[in-house]
Formats: sequence, structure tokens, C-alpha cells
Amino acid sequence: MDAPEAGKPPVLSAEIFVIPLEANRFLVYAPLRRAAFVGNAGVVNLLADLREGRTEGVKEGADSGDEALEFLRRLEIVDAGPETPPHETFADEPEPTSVTLFLTTACNLRCTYCYAAAGEGEARHMPPELARRGVDFVVGNAVRRGEDHFEVNFHGGGEPARNWPTLTETLAYARRQAEAHGLNLTAYIATNAVFSKMQLDWVVANLDGASVSCDGLPEVHDANRVTPGGKGSSASVLHTLRRFDAENFSYGIRMTVTAAAIPRLADSVEFLCANFHPGQIQAEPAYQIGRGAVAPSAETEAFVSAFREAQARARGHGQELTFSAARAGTLTRHFCAATQDLFAITPSGSVSSCYEVFDESSPRAPIFLYGAHDGEGGWRFDQEKIAFLRSQSVDRRAWCAGCFARWSCGGDCYHKALAVHGGGEFAGTERCDIIRALTKDQILTRIAEAGGVFWHEAPTDAVAVIEGCDCVSCGE
Ligand code: SF4
Ligand code: SF4
Repeated sequence: MDAPEAGKPPVLSAEIFVIPLEANRFLVYAPLRRAAFVGNAGVVNLLADLREGRTEGVKEGADSGDEALEFLRRLEIVDAGPETPPHETFADEPEPTSVTLFLTTACNLRCTYCYAAAGEGEARHMPPELARRGVDFVVGNAVRRGEDHFEVNFHGGGEPARNWPTLTETLAYARRQAEAHGLNLTAYIATNAVFSKMQLDWVVANLDGASVSCDGLPEVHDANRVTPGGKGSSASVLHTLRRFDAENFSYGIRMTVTAAAIPRLADSVEFLCANFHPGQIQAEPAYQIGRGAVAPSAETEAFVSAFREAQARARGHGQELTFSAARAGTLTRHFCAATQDLFAITPSGSVSSCYEVFDESSPRAPIFLYGAHDGEGGWRFDQEKIAFLRSQSVDRRAWCAGCFARWSCGGDCYHKALAVHGGGEFAGTERCDIIRALTKDQILTRIAEAGGVFWHEAPTDAVAVIEGCDCVSCGE
């Protein structure tokens, strides 16, 4: 930051949001500066004056010895020059080095809130040759781009382990390709973790990590995550988690919280933290879609209160509880990879950019399916659809312009926005209140952890792409 010129009026140099707290206290947040502090009405008025160019009373700047201005300069809120919003780095044609394979729509469970309504209708399975084409594509891209790594993710629609032949053959093939091309391979699975002994042995021995759907306390989990015969699945899932811990296998837990389970969220998180060692625990209100379409909404103030209590309990165990769209400090125009060229393949060979759109029968398939295999070993993409998906960034959404969470939220789940507003103008969702409440908590926590006066992280390159996806709906 340059020193202010003597006699020059101070200039506001940050996008500022003022969030009222209690009793004449305000949270002042400059997301693009990664800066925040708690101030009084005086500093808020000063910022308003600067924003409106009313600088008569403050124009002497540094020479006046004005402490408030000096403080604002230190946080790059004043006289720091233009800000840099997160940039985008899309190639013309998608060149992914990560492939997600929706291996099957079949499932061994019938969870009451399943977004995919898995197990209903005729099951579709991905053949191994189609999965190999996906692997070939990302391997070719990694080689062409000079990268040393590619990634294979096994995912639903249903439970990926229900298409065991394709799962195991594809991994073996990917390993051979990695070796042949001198590349590193990482392979993950999103799973309900109800495995046979043979499957569990294989997962631990062969994969790099797993995202496990588990709702916490056995009675909470078993209320919704049941077999086709209606039997709870927690005994199997907890057995898997114990094995993962015993083997130091890397995994995260993804909790789906129904309205009925909100009062038990803190106890469920406590149970998981006290008994297991996941790398991450994420809690999301149940998405009202699929079998959960008619369930009462869990996107409520009660969820926020329960999340706060659960977060406090998790921290007591040295663990952080996460919610996908609250991520203060992250700078992005996008919530997830759905608008950033996610390369996911349906069992029939379409290319999807959304974990929610795992086959051609999805109501939103026309939006999220943007390519297909070309019948000759390659893939063709619809450039118009790609351009449309990429354009769904938070900076182009009028409703989000005044929201302090926008540069970290990235506009939240686009699939959810479509489910709520159809193709119409976005006008917020119930999740927005959760996002803002929990993002505000994170900012206040950062201030507290930084000594209690302000938070300001050294400027870094703005992040354009969210790696991986904490999808809101992947509670398989
Ligand atoms: S977060 Fe939403 S838009 Fe992104 S992949 Fe998941 S369902 Fe699709
Ligand atoms: S209005 Fe909602 S979707 Fe938009 S940035 Fe804010 S919290 Fe995210």
C-alpha cells in the first residue's frame, strides 16, 4: 500500500458491508480485502462520508493523525488503490483432469430424503468401457497440460459400490494409465458406507478417501437411512467408520439434517467427534427434492441455532463443523463446480456439471447436461450450454449484489436456485439466511482469533475455482 499523499483527501478503496450487531456495534466487512472489524456508529458514519465523497472534515488524512483513518488504511479499506475481484480462468474447451463417474442409480438403502430417489425405477449402470473413456480423457488432458496428477471420483445417483465390477475395473485401469504416463492418481468415493467385508477391505486398500453419509447418533441416522426392508443402517456405517479409523483411512462425514433431527444435531456431532476421527464433518439441511420433496423445511432459524451449538461442541473436540456455503475468507464467483466445467459422466454417457443431475431423466438435465461421448473414444461439448453455465456467477446476479456473503458464497447451489425460482430472476432462498448467519459467525471468530480488534489476511491471489465440491445434495 502506498503512503497517502499529504493534503489529499482519503479515498475509500474497498467494497464495504456494514452488518448491525447489538447496542451501537457494527461488523464492518471488506471481503475483497479479507478484512473486518467491529466498530461503532462513528466509524460507520466516517465510511459513509468517504463513500459519498464527503471528505471536508477528514481531508487532511494521515497528516491529521486521525486514528480511524490510519486504522482503515492498515486494513486497505482506505487509500489502497483498486481491489481485485476473483478472476476466472476458463479454457475454451473444457480440459478437466478430474472425472466423476455416476456409476449407478441402484442403491442398497432407501433413505427417506434421498435427492435421487435411488432404488426407484429401473436401475442404470455404467459399463466399464464408458468409465475408461472418461479416464482416458482426463489422463490425456493431464499429459497435454503438463500436469502430474489426475483424479477419479466414484459417485451416485445411487450407491457407487452397487456397480462393483465397473468400480474396481475402472480403478485398476486408471492405475495402469497413471503408471504408463508417469502421473499420480487420487481416487475417492461418495458412499453410504454400507459395505460387505470384501468391499470394505478393498476400499481401504485401494482408495485415497471417502465422503460418508452419516447422520450422527444411531437413532437419528436410523430414522431416515434405512434398507429397503426399513431396517436402520447405522450399525454397518459405524462399523465402516471404526475400520477407517483403525486403518488411518482418510474420510469426511456428510450429515443431512431433517427438520425433525435439528434438535439432535449437537448431540449427533458430539457423538461423531467423541467416537470417530473424520477429517471433516459437514452438516446440511435436507434438500426438499426426490423423496424429501414433501418433508418440512429444515432451512430454518432453528437449524442455525442448532448448528452453532453443534459447532461449539465440535470445537471442544478440536474439530470444525462446516456448512457448504459459509466460507468467509474464500474469494470466488462460483459456489461449486457446476458452473465451472465439472466433468461428471452419467451411466448412459452424458456429461453433467451437477451432482444432482446424474441421468437424462432429471428435470434439469437440459441445463446441466452439456456433452456426451462421441462414439469414437472422445467427448463432444455443447459450447452454448458451457457458456451459459459459466455465466451463472455471483457477480452477474442482481439479487446478490448487496449481500455481504457474496464473494464467499458464490451464489450458492445453482440447482437449488432453479428448483426455487425456475428459470426466473433469483430472489434469494431460505438458505440465504443460514449462509449469512454462519458467515457472520465465521468473520467474528476470525476477529476474535486475530486478537479481538480486527481480522486482515495478507492479500493473496484471488481464488477462482473451488476445488472439489461440498455439494448441498450429496446425502446419498
Ligand atoms: S451444489 Fe448444487 S449446483 Fe453444485 S453440484 Fe451440488 S446440486 Fe449441483
Ligand atoms: S443472496 Fe444468498 S445466494 Fe446470494 S450471495 Fe447472498 S447468501 Fe449467497
